[in-house]
Amino acid sequence: MIEYENLRRLNAPFFEEYKNTFNHFLESGWFVLGKQVKAFEEEFASYCKADYCVGLASGLDAIELALKSFNFKPNSEVIVPSNTYIASILAIVNVGLKPVLVEPNIKTYNIDPKLIEAKITSETVAILPVHLYGKCCEMDRIIEIAKKHQLKIVEDAAQAHGAMQNNKLTGTFGEFGAFSFYPTKNLGALGDAGGLICQDEEKAESIKTLRNYGSKIKYYNEVLGYNSRLDEVQAAFLRIKLKHLDQINNHKRSLAEIYFNGLSDQFIKPDRDPEFHDVFHIYNVRHPKRDQLKAYLEEHQVKTEVHYPVAPNNQKAMKGIINERFPIAEEIHRTTLSLPISYFHSEEDILQVVDIMNRFN
Ligand SMILES: *Cc1c(COP(=O)(O)O)cnc(C)c1O
Repeated sequence: MIEYENLRRLNAPFFEEYKNTFNHFLESGWFVLGKQVKAFEEEFASYCKADYCVGLASGLDAIELALKSFNFKPNSEVIVPSNTYIASILAIVNVGLKPVLVEPNIKTYNIDPKLIEAKITSETVAILPVHLYGKCCEMDRIIEIAKKHQLKIVEDAAQAHGAMQNNKLTGTFGEFGAFSFYPTKNLGALGDAGGLICQDEEKAESIKTLRNYGSKIKYYNEVLGYNSRLDEVQAAFLRIKLKHLDQINNHKRSLAEIYFNGLSDQFIKPDRDPEFHDVFHIYNVRHPKRDQLKAYLEEHQVKTEVHYPVAPNNQKAMKGIINERFPIAEEIHRTTLSLPISYFHSEEDILQVVDIMNRFN
């Protein structure tokens, strides 16, 4: 059986280090906002070549707090891709703003910069590009549009730790880069965790205030805040994983290479462009008979996933919030299939998947 993901096997190489670090954490008697969070923030900012990082409780919170910190007028519009994971859209709605969906490019699966300007109105305040599957968006073009219309950029980099366009890392193009460290992400904790990076001290301070009940000094509350602190023990685990992030990304890239070289042309493979350094949080193919392909692979002991089965505009929860149709997003959701590409998979595993897939008809 070739599993799609297995968090025990993914983390097994780090068990010894995790156990040592947990013992230190336990003995330290300091469980919230301590040395580990501070050290992780410094190390992750440095990894991203950003000036500041603020550790938070989740990726969803990261996007929400970033948007919240601008104090936009209620119901202001935020541009977001129509095929994103629901969290990007929920964050916008949860802080009282209005999501305006823009279709992705069918080749890159990322927001299509050519379609953004048609959706900008006098109410638009920000663009929320999502670097889906581990591929950076066309940020050069998105930045041009944002400048021209004076819009803020908050990047959803939850799937793209270490991905780049022209050697510039995701999360560093906009005012904020939002990350999730959910266990399955390329940089994953052993529970929920998230963070924001930015280049501005005041912005970093405003996020630190928001994450801690709107308080800079204990029991003095300046703004309406949240409880969204990165757990001290998760920060300690993340510091260990971060040292191996490039290795994890490179392993996933080498597995992707096997798919690119081996899979026959009946499968639509991800776009490749030398400008973009992809980290393959997900390796997807598209196929008109996706459901049969998934069942066929299951019969042959290969587990796959669908990211995502339902387009956001067709989700029950979005009734009355999104009223348009998005044919490109729907086409992707109808045909996409995510193949095994975890850190624990071997090249032999992937060669086997390729071999089985190429016999599908
Ligand atoms: C995982 C994910 C999030 C949310 O992260 P959590 O840590 O689960 O809150 C947001 N956006 C995208 C694109 C994601 O993949």
